[in-house]
Amino acid sequence: MPEKFDVIVVGAGAAGLAAAYKMAREGLAVVVIERGDYPGAKNVMGGVLYRAMMEELIPEFWKEAPLQRPVVEQRFWLMDEDSVVTTSYKGQEWAKEPYNCFTVFRGQFDQWFARKCTEAGAIIINETTVESCIVENERVVGVRTNRPDGDLYANVVVLADGVNSLLGKQLGFHSEWQPQQVALAVMEELKLPSQVIEDRFNLDSGMGATIEIFGGGTVGMVGTAFIYTNKEHISIGVGALLSQIREAKVRPYDLLENLKNHPAVRPLIRNSEPVEYYAHLIPEGGYNAIPKLVGDGVMAIGDAAQLVNGIHREGSNLAMTSGRLAAEAIIRAHKIGEFNERALSHYEINLRDSFVIKDLKKYKDTSRLFENQPQYFNQYIPAANMALREMLTVDGISKKDKQKLITRRILSGRSMFSLGKDIYQAWRAVK
Ligand SMILES: Cc1cc2nc3c(=O)[nH]c(=O)nc-3n(C[C@H](O)[C@H](O)[C@H](O)COP(=O)(O)OP(=O)(O)OC[C@H]3O[C@@H](n4cnc5c(N)ncnc54)[C@H](O)[C@@H]3O)c2cc1C
Repeated sequence: MPEKFDVIVVGAGAAGLAAAYKMAREGLAVVVIERGDYPGAKNVMGGVLYRAMMEELIPEFWKEAPLQRPVVEQRFWLMDEDSVVTTSYKGQEWAKEPYNCFTVFRGQFDQWFARKCTEAGAIIINETTVESCIVENERVVGVRTNRPDGDLYANVVVLADGVNSLLGKQLGFHSEWQPQQVALAVMEELKLPSQVIEDRFNLDSGMGATIEIFGGGTVGMVGTAFIYTNKEHISIGVGALLSQIREAKVRPYDLLENLKNHPAVRPLIRNSEPVEYYAHLIPEGGYNAIPKLVGDGVMAIGDAAQLVNGIHREGSNLAMTSGRLAAEAIIRAHKIGEFNERALSHYEINLRDSFVIKDLKKYKDTSRLFENQPQYFNQYIPAANMALREMLTVDGISKKDKQKLITRRILSGRSMFSLGKDIYQAWRAVK
């Protein structure tokens, strides 16, 4: 191994591997340090992987990567205690090459991606934890690992160490995340025969579906639940803001059990066998929580930079795009031989100009709104269920009387003005 590398990447997740692949292809000497036994061993994702961002790195990767199912239908459920209001989009366009997105197992996908990085020339060191960055004259020059004689040096260190990013915290890029800036998610893999999955989800052979669930899955807390189809497994999970989980004193595992026992969910997972259980944090601070991204000899990417769009359940694609843009800035810096904050700042400029930060900015107030105004989750979602139940129950009551009843119940104790205000605020938060 060379004594000094061009770049050290800390963390072999979606962000770190994307950066490493791009730089190794350009001929830079890149080492990736991963604390897990292998890439993907410690990574948790629902997981829907988006084609477009991965394809910017490896064209037509879907022909060889270990993927589960192309997603052809995305369903959305507003869940009440024993009912759901549903809507969905199913499109044949998504069933054809080059597809839109895929379900994946990160354990498999990341190992494959890591192999591509190695083939491109990167070195991947597993089972090694970076304990701190080595800083000389206020500039990051390398990393200290938990191995004996484990100091490594490079022109640039890329922090791709995931949501906690202890290294970013040590450098003062961010302080301890607040409990309202992260969600705690738990999920399970449930084994079922492929044919059973296709029958239950109304899918053609090999195709997949996703369900995003709002309301009942998180018992009114800000968060979502999900059900995704894999080849021979269903991924089911639920996540909510850590602050609200603590306040409500609920156990995440109980949330998942509740979800699995909901009458709309139970038939989909009947007779399945739980084979894996995971718990992980998701960055939810959005635009307002983006930390310092670039310093002298150092940059932060992916979850370490809070780059997750919770509204659209996008994280892996933001991680990959930030990794690619960081790599491009480093390649440029390498050409001019300068690695200070100014030289590396092209990463931040391009990230701010990309969909990544534009999307996070668009939803910058959404999480706070829903957190401070719980009625969206715990009143309006049950109200939508009640309204449809009333209108669709044929019981001899006139539709006009039903409408009056529904309006009375929705307003119960609230004025038309406050309802209008809530609608306006929700529209402003997502417009
Ligand atoms: C339950 C759940 C469901 C999700 N579903 C989706 C989804 O459907 N679609 C989607 O796009 N996104 C989803 N996400 C988000 C997505 O998983 C993340 O945004 C994405 O994995 C971020 O990639 P990353 O490389 O930044 O971080 P990670 O994938 O977390 O990788 C960080 C890596 O750094 C390593 N590491 C950390 N510290 C050190 C250290 N000190 N030394 C060495 N190595 C270290 C870790 O072991 C890990 O491998 C989901 C997340 C969760 C938790």
